[in-house]
Amino acid sequence: MRYVVVTGGVLSGLGKGVTASSIGVLLKSAGLRVTSIKIDPYLNIDAGTMSPFEHGEVFVLDDGGEVDLDLGNYERFLDIALMRDNNITTGKVYAAVVERERRGDYLGKTVQVIPHITNEIQEWIEKVAQVPSDGNNGVPDACIIELGGTVGDIESAPFVEALRQFQFRVGRENICFVHVSLVPVMGPVGEQKTKPTQHTVKELRGLGIIPDILVCRSAKPLQEETRTKLAAFCHVPEEAIVSAHDVSNIYRVPMMLEEQGVSGVLSELFGFELPSKRPLLDDWKAMADRVDNLEGEVHIATVGKYTGLSDSYLSVIKALQHSSYEVGRKLVIDWIESADLDDQTSATDPEAYAAAWELLRGADGVLVPGGFGIRGIEGKIKAAEYARTNNIPYLGVCLGLQVATIEFCRNVLGMEGANSTEFDADTPHPAVVFMPEISKTHMGGTMRLGTKPTPFLVDDCKMRRLYGGADHVDERHRHRYEVNPELIEQIESAGLKYVGKDETGQRCEIMELEGHPYYVGTQYHPEFKSRPGRPSPPFLGLLMAACGQEI
Ligand code: GLN
Repeated sequence: MRYVVVTGGVLSGLGKGVTASSIGVLLKSAGLRVTSIKIDPYLNIDAGTMSPFEHGEVFVLDDGGEVDLDLGNYERFLDIALMRDNNITTGKVYAAVVERERRGDYLGKTVQVIPHITNEIQEWIEKVAQVPSDGNNGVPDACIIELGGTVGDIESAPFVEALRQFQFRVGRENICFVHVSLVPVMGPVGEQKTKPTQHTVKELRGLGIIPDILVCRSAKPLQEETRTKLAAFCHVPEEAIVSAHDVSNIYRVPMMLEEQGVSGVLSELFGFELPSKRPLLDDWKAMADRVDNLEGEVHIATVGKYTGLSDSYLSVIKALQHSSYEVGRKLVIDWIESADLDDQTSATDPEAYAAAWELLRGADGVLVPGGFGIRGIEGKIKAAEYARTNNIPYLGVCLGLQVATIEFCRNVLGMEGANSTEFDADTPHPAVVFMPEISKTHMGGTMRLGTKPTPFLVDDCKMRRLYGGADHVDERHRHRYEVNPELIEQIESAGLKYVGKDETGQRCEIMELEGHPYYVGTQYHPEFKSRPGRPSPPFLGLLMAACGQEI
């Protein structure tokens, strides 16, 4: 097993995740089987209880793990499927050690950060790195480990120490340390400043880790003298100093690293042969070119409540992008704050109300993504009504399926005040209800989570066609509420069909409206399994319908 450890310095948000996954792509292109681990030094057990406002989207894995959105990057870049244990947090490590202590595993010993926490981390990494993740049984050849935060943070110290020890455990020839840093530009001539990088490398070395590769984020390519200076001051050979400058799209990042010889550095360090032909890199290049050459626009109104922060909907954006490459148009996402569509806003903030409606009316398609809590619900219901009554393509994901159902109950079936019991416990018409098996007292990890099969119940419908005629789909879930089973018959007889249900035949999973160009919803989150070159079918359908293509 070869390990690539990616750390970051100077500041967060440098694109460490993209760098790490791009290195993974290079290793994969050389024929290695690659998996990955993300370390998040916070105390939460997982990202499930964290607000998308603060931390971005909660990514969901096949096994129901609720994890950091970077795991999504790895899945998409490397086309792998990870498990909850691929995301290590301080909370998980301490919980495991404390549990062992209570069991008496360390009887007689004082339990300490070193060695008990640091050993736990190393054992965890070694165990998880062995788990196949590319759909074929067989142990991976390489594991990319990304350490969240920046080196020097108090909370990441035990992880840095564990990784320092790890080089002796696995052998120096089996580990490569990559440090991602920032090279800012100052002054009228745009001088590239190396001092922040010098400092962060010094700090890393002080902690016992000598970087093998230094990746420098900068707006423009690194100048030759910058590279020479960094090599001299950072104790990294010049050929291992890599410029990670701005490129036209993220699919160019693996090629950018390749062109600077990163594959060569890795093959030398790890002692593997670079094959003469690497078709995977040609695919990436083709994808990057395609993305740069899209023509014409397609506008998708996305109605949510974290619209100011695109990280909150990262996988949804990716699924839309993947689909837009397939239909060959440039994607424009028109973000609409759902509360702005609400009737009440017309009185309190008429300008915002008018602007939101103008965006909605100008869109080629409407997307209502997943969400929790009552804020903005009425606006989402309005968006669903608008799309339904005006024959505008609509995709509702999770909450988006639920609001479409509520809207249908209210406005087609005449159930005044119909709602989800999540938003109105005393609604006269509970269109969406709490699922019986879900805990009301514990929030963490208690939803209906992860991949569950959904059989199609009709021979032919748009969604089934989009899924290639499959008899069932395996998609990932994250919800507590469901369409009220008692109302299904009534709703369906008025034309809103649930064409896919769970294996018990009770739980509504895929919704499709008859006689509409594309009015669909899924109780699951199809965005998590979307891939460049293999877009998520419901999203592809939305884009096709928005471009006037037949499904
Ligand atoms: N809040 C809704 C539920 O719990 C929808 C969840 C979601 O959109 N992920 O069922």
